[in-house]
Amino acid sequence: MIGLRPMRTTPDTVYLPFNRDCLGEEFAPAKRGSKAPERRGHWLIVQEQGLIVSTDSHELSLPSGDCPPGLDGLVGEPLWLGTWRGTPCWVGGLARGVGIPAGLHRETLVPMQGPRLPDDLLSLGGMAMQALWWESTSGHCPRCGARTERIENEWGKRCPGCRYEHYPHLHPAVIVLVRDGDRVLLARKAIWAPGRYALVAGFVDNGESLEGAARREVGEEVGVAVDNVRYVGSQNWPFPSQLMVGFVADYAGGEITIDPEELEDARWFPRDALPTGPARHSIAGFIIEHYARAGRQ
Ligand SMILES: [Zn+2]
Repeated sequence: MIGLRPMRTTPDTVYLPFNRDCLGEEFAPAKRGSKAPERRGHWLIVQEQGLIVSTDSHELSLPSGDCPPGLDGLVGEPLWLGTWRGTPCWVGGLARGVGIPAGLHRETLVPMQGPRLPDDLLSLGGMAMQALWWESTSGHCPRCGARTERIENEWGKRCPGCRYEHYPHLHPAVIVLVRDGDRVLLARKAIWAPGRYALVAGFVDNGESLEGAARREVGEEVGVAVDNVRYVGSQNWPFPSQLMVGFVADYAGGEITIDPEELEDARWFPRDALPTGPARHSIAGFIIEHYARAGRQ
């Protein structure tokens, strides 16, 4: 049944924006082997890290119908992403600096910029960004450099020279909240807004398990040991193509010693006196809200 979602008894990262799951059954990805319909429907037009939306109504909404007047021919070959609420979604990229026609404007997709877009449009826009990123980075074979071809009805690309095939790349990264009784360890990077603290995070290395990466990142970035590393959820992160895998871990010893290449500061905060945190749209915000502030086990 369209729009039916499971009952939420406890908050779940599945419902974070950028996770396709949060669209429920309203979104159906373009299916392998199926033919793209005619080029009409919802338009997911991305410029830099923003989504072009219609200003026709009070609500932010996607342009619909044919490619919006004034943008046809400027968005490249549109990509069929799938179907949302029964209507096909087309993705196009608009180059930086290209003017946006009257009746449309650009809204940011970036969580740290406080987006006004509702979660469903953030999620669709995130998928559009990832589709465009994949198209822009997969045009040549990474082994021999020849021009690749799209594998029919797939996102994958094949090299006509050496037959190498590759599919959209997602890069796994771990993000970890360290807890010690009623205090939590938070860290900040120098480039962040003053006073803002968040979680230790980093990419998974060759040969590592996710839990192993979580232990290593905490050790390298803040110098403490952790135990009881537990998975608490994940978020697909389209800036440009990470899969953020969230953990909570128990402090198991050591003094805080930051890696100055990565961090400006790290310190313990009491759960009832947390500093400014990340946006609610991010898994970092989710973990801090539920596993630090609310003390969820
Ligand atoms: Zn090749």
